[in-house]
Amino acid sequence: AVGDTVSIKSEKGEYLVNSIKERRNCISRTYEGKQRILGVNIDHLFCITAPLPLFNTTFIDRVLATAHAEQIPTTLILNKTDLDLSETTPLIDIYKDLEFQVIETSMKSGEGLTPLLNLLESDDSLDTILFTGMSGVGKSSILNELIPSANRDVGEVSEKTGQGRQTTSQSRAYPMALGERNVFLIDLPGVQNFGITHLSLREVRLSFPEIVSRQQYCEFSDCAHMKEQNCAVTQALEKGEISDSRYKSYVTMVEEIKANNAY
Ligand code: GDP
Ligand code: ZN
Repeated sequence: AVGDTVSIKSEKGEYLVNSIKERRNCISRTYEGKQRILGVNIDHLFCITAPLPLFNTTFIDRVLATAHAEQIPTTLILNKTDLDLSETTPLIDIYKDLEFQVIETSMKSGEGLTPLLNLLESDDSLDTILFTGMSGVGKSSILNELIPSANRDVGEVSEKTGQGRQTTSQSRAYPMALGERNVFLIDLPGVQNFGITHLSLREVRLSFPEIVSRQQYCEFSDCAHMKEQNCAVTQALEKGEISDSRYKSYVTMVEEIKANNAY
């Protein structure tokens, strides 16, 4: 898998993988009913997004849940900040309020990648960084800016749907020189949906800090925060203290896992 450390031997001009070092973590998604590995041994995950209509909370919350289950720190990158942000700002603020790290970039304005480079340079222990995002958000543009030799195809975004066409199909790692050190940037395919049925219900619950901080106040210790009585989570939702979009993400993930386990 991309990100593995392997030992190889050469035999008649061919290289064979001898052994694979134990993996520290593994990012995968469920696709066509199977768990597909997207990258392993990841130090940090960048979830790239762009203003509405591309800003997709369902996608973001699934990536955050997957990364949390593997204990991989994640940064949301809001790209295309040169565009109108008025409708997107309240959504981004939800994540900032929950203390997710958010940085803003624009490949069009002079500001460009400075905030992203600052983050990469601030932590010497960052070695392997995974880039994910729905197609059209500017992931290829960012990678090309960081590593010109990566030469990713930059796709056109449909004016109608705001969706980009699928230009990437395989995970790939690119080495990038960063001062004295080398980091690896792994480009994930511009996946449009992020199946999470390989996660447990507990892992999903734990990835929502706004649920974790409240579930001790639910009447039932095994509360699923759906239709239970005296549920602190749904009460907070009614008061507007938990966002509708985050709660909806939670419910759809739980339902997806339950439906999958029913078979
Ligand atoms: P990907 O599908 O996520 O890899 O996105 P691409 O890098 O292919 O970019 C999709 C489209 O968005 C292209 O037309 C880019 O030129 C455009 N784009 C990328 N970054 C920005 C940005 O910061 N601002 C604006 N306005 N457009 C951008
Ligand atoms: Zn509850």
